[in-house]
Amino acid sequence: MSICNRCNLERAVYKRAVSGELLCKSCFMESFEKRVRRTISKYDLFREDDRIAVALSGGKDSLALLKLLWKLEREFPMASVVAITIDEGIPGYRDESLKLAVDFCRKLGVEHHVYTFRELFNVTVHEYMSTSLRERVGLGPCSLCGILRRRAIDIAAEKVNATVVATAHTLDDIIQTYFMEILRGDLPKGLIGVRTRDVSIPRVAPFRLTPENEVVLYAYFSGISFQETPCPYASYSQRDLIRRFLTEFEDNHPGSLYAAMARLEELIRSHEREVSKNRCRICLSPSSGELCRACQVVEELLQLRATSSP
Ligand code: SF4
Ligand code: ZN
Repeated sequence: MSICNRCNLERAVYKRAVSGELLCKSCFMESFEKRVRRTISKYDLFREDDRIAVALSGGKDSLALLKLLWKLEREFPMASVVAITIDEGIPGYRDESLKLAVDFCRKLGVEHHVYTFRELFNVTVHEYMSTSLRERVGLGPCSLCGILRRRAIDIAAEKVNATVVATAHTLDDIIQTYFMEILRGDLPKGLIGVRTRDVSIPRVAPFRLTPENEVVLYAYFSGISFQETPCPYASYSQRDLIRRFLTEFEDNHPGSLYAAMARLEELIRSHEREVSKNRCRICLSPSSGELCRACQVVEELLQLRATSSP
């Protein structure tokens, strides 16, 4: 039986592939939280008086993030944490994670607000997929869902007077997003999950240096309940293909995701200076036109909904 390399006392339950280190449960939990703290200070993600809106989907990653920020918040009396959940209108799927989110916030005593695509955009993902809207807008369910969720989180964050939004994007998620942009022939326009000054409510990702498998383990050891039902549209997602490839690659070559992040972000930073200083009128993200692509889609959808008969 292997013994933990840190405390040299307890039985090891996890081998960190990048370093080869063996960790027991409590040393793993401690090192996980330490890494998130280091990430927060390295990128200066929070201010002492922030009102942090955690984007809480009800999945394990976001529940783990809420738990950790709720814990950290108690060290900063001027800061506060609030949770926001977006209901996309996917019957049978969102109901389960919504219940997990509501129960978890109640347990922690965290203020929780739920906003729906229906109330914000007069449409649900289910409706989009089962009417002519999909053909008219021309996007797959996940592209549309992602665009609307992003906008919904911005609106929700403003409504709850948040100064910053924290998302549970992990190292894996961020590299996947960079790859998706590259495979579309684009270079990412900025770093994901770091605090930028040019948007009104910045988005930060405290798990940006934490691999997905460690977030899953942290959630498991924290006794967080997992959602069992997958989204019925998950198979449409381009991200899924990239996720599978990158996960297998990382399993065979530990450390590849960190290496990719370091090099890609160096490139993105040097490219950032050349990116147009022009900003989208609505969301303030870099854009060559008056509106960015995502905001164009939202506007188009709102117009289609306003002109189509109920
Ligand atoms: Fe939305 Fe696609 Fe995720 Fe389902 S799998 S919640 S449609 S992004
Ligand atoms: Zn925009």
